[in-house]
Amino acid sequence: MIAEKMRPLVQNNSAIRAMFEEGKRLAAIYGAENVYDFSLGNPNVPAPETVKKAILDVLEEEESTFIHGYMSNAGYEDVRETIAASLNQRFGTSFHLENIIMTVGAASGLNIILKTLLNPEDEVLTFAPYFLEYGNYVRNYDGRLVVVPANTVDFQPDLTAFRDLIGPRTKAAIINSPNNPTGAIYSEETLTRLGKILEEKSREIGHPIVLLSDEPYRELAYDGAVVPYVTKYYKDTVVCYSYSKSLSLPGERIGYVAIPDELTDAKEVTAAAVIANRVLGSVNAPSLFQRVIKRCIHEKVNVEAYDKNRHLLYDSLTSYGFSCVKPEGAFYLFLKSPMEDEKEFCALCKKHNVLVVPGSSFACAGYVRISYCVSYEQILRSLPAFKKIAEECGL
Ligand code: PLP
Repeated sequence: MIAEKMRPLVQNNSAIRAMFEEGKRLAAIYGAENVYDFSLGNPNVPAPETVKKAILDVLEEEESTFIHGYMSNAGYEDVRETIAASLNQRFGTSFHLENIIMTVGAASGLNIILKTLLNPEDEVLTFAPYFLEYGNYVRNYDGRLVVVPANTVDFQPDLTAFRDLIGPRTKAAIINSPNNPTGAIYSEETLTRLGKILEEKSREIGHPIVLLSDEPYRELAYDGAVVPYVTKYYKDTVVCYSYSKSLSLPGERIGYVAIPDELTDAKEVTAAAVIANRVLGSVNAPSLFQRVIKRCIHEKVNVEAYDKNRHLLYDSLTSYGFSCVKPEGAFYLFLKSPMEDEKEFCALCKKHNVLVVPGSSFACAGYVRISYCVSYEQILRSLPAFKKIAEECGL
């Protein structure tokens, strides 16, 4: 019955499901506190108290019937204006409400923009390691994802390889900084070079290449690291933002895309993106949470809690002999597998009740992703297991 295009998705989903089931199975045998699940990217830091208060205040104070009603497909005007003003204040941009479209998280933002831009067989470049859903999103619109191999020295993008992979069918490129799964933050220097390459290549192939900046982790940066605002480095940039991690609201599905006036054919692209929001079936972003975002525009989750986890995990694992580029942002650590086949290493970890995700799930074999959006206590409890794993690997 199901469509051919769905078959590989169903098969792949069973692998993820298998990992989830495995976690449950181990917890039933050994007790949940003795299983160290580092596989998921579900924030454990709670949403700020002000979010809860804002939800209640919206329901108490705002006009009650239409708070659950439809609005313009782009979202509430006052919410979009508040976001634009906040971006302008933080990053010196010049957004206004027309530049902002409220979306059902970054996933929906990316889908809306890809739907807006892609003709069949158009190519979208991205850098390994990457969030594997990008492939699905691009294939949704019959595009082709082209993957630039990883630069494992510091996980900044390999821009030489990137330049070589741009061709006449290249329509867009996706970047993600702070990065899932490496925690790398793309530097100003990287973005300046990236912007120059895109300008040059867009001229050469005769149409603009749109840079999609996927930013669910923008607010999770450590040691004072600056996450440069991408529209400043290349005018044909669309930002796909999300409150899933910055306010710990992943299940509420709220984010936006920012399409600057400087983008080529900005008005046409924006109008098409609003229609894409509708025809893809999301229609508009959740009403209540748009209202909440307006009231919580200056809020952030407790980033220090993630930072504490990062220090404990990074310092401990490197002291046991593991190697890893120190993450600067997000809540992931991308560990070099001490075994050639990282899936074997994941299996060894599992024997010690430690669940981590193979790098091949991010198109970067030889590494594993450890998600540290877990309790500090879980990390503490897991350390003896990591130590034993290191010893068994001869580190
Ligand atoms: N992009 C990346 C790199 C992610 O890691 C995630 C979620 O984990 C998403 C996009 C999707 O985020 P959202 O919940 O905003 O749809």
